[in-house]
Formats: sequence, C-alpha cells, structure tokens
Amino acid sequence: MADVITSEQRSRNMAAIKGKDTKPEMIVRKYLFSRGLRFRVNNRKLAGSPDIVLKKYKTVVFVDGCFWHGHEGCKYFRLPKSNVDFWRHKIAMNIARDYANNVDLKLAGWRVIRIWECDIRTKTKRDEVLKHLYERITESHNINVYQPNEIEGYSIAAEPLIPFK
Ligand SMILES: [Zn+2]
Repeated sequence: MADVITSEQRSRNMAAIKGKDTKPEMIVRKYLFSRGLRFRVNNRKLAGSPDIVLKKYKTVVFVDGCFWHGHEGCKYFRLPKSNVDFWRHKIAMNIARDYANNVDLKLAGWRVIRIWECDIRTKTKRDEVLKHLYERITESHNINVYQPNEIEGYSIAAEPLIPFK
C-alpha cells in the first residue's frame, strides 16, 4: 500500500515536472520578459516544441527538467526504484529525441540553447544563469551556418550512456 501511494505521488511529481508552464520555465520567461525580450512559448510547429522562441534572434530556449532529460550526475536525476528498465529506456529515448530535435532546429537555422532546471532552482546560481542566458540570446551569431557541435547549453551524447543510479 505504501508503495502505491509512493508511485502515485511520484507520477504526480513527474507530471508537474513535465507539464507546460512549469515553474522553472516561468522563471525564465519572466526574467527574459523583464529584460525586454518578446517571444512565443511552446511553439508546436518547431521540433520539440521549444519552451521559448525568440524569432528576432532566431533562437529557441529549452528549460529541461533534470529527470526527464537525464541530467547526468544531477541530484534531481534519480531513477525510480521500481520499473527501472522502463524508466531507463524512457529517459534514453528522451535524450535521443532531444538530440534529434537539436539537429532539426539547427538545420532550420535556429540557435538552440538548453538550460537545466537545477541551474535555476537556487537563487544565487539562478541570477547568474539567467543573466548569461540573456547575453547569449542577444549576442550576434551567424544563423546561416550549420554547426552541429555548437548546440549551446550542454552537450547531449548521440548514443546515451548514462550512469543510472
Ligand atoms: Zn540537473
């Protein structure tokens, strides 16, 4: 019985993490808006439905939850104790999809910036990360050259090899 409650609680938490307009996303949006940037959110026409689309800067921003996107070595990335194989597979698929989406977006001329949820969780780190994000968005960049190794934010392995806990 205790396990059932735990599972329900867990899926609720996960739904909250994965859901639209989750808190970390809102923090980033509010900040960028306060800095005068205007953008669209959750654009489904683009690969991966980027959380923030800044057309003027030809830049998309993803705020990735550490669990769902498999943040290696992160304390917020812990596989559930039950159905380990299921979760391992699911997260690996998510990582592969992120990678494919990055490539698709880059091919379409977008700059892709990904930031981890954990980087904006704590107040001190958050301010620095958001400031840096703003600078990266607004700095000039060549949007016409496809450079697959220049996906910003963090690197994603083509073949996910994650040390699951
Ligand atoms: Zn993390």
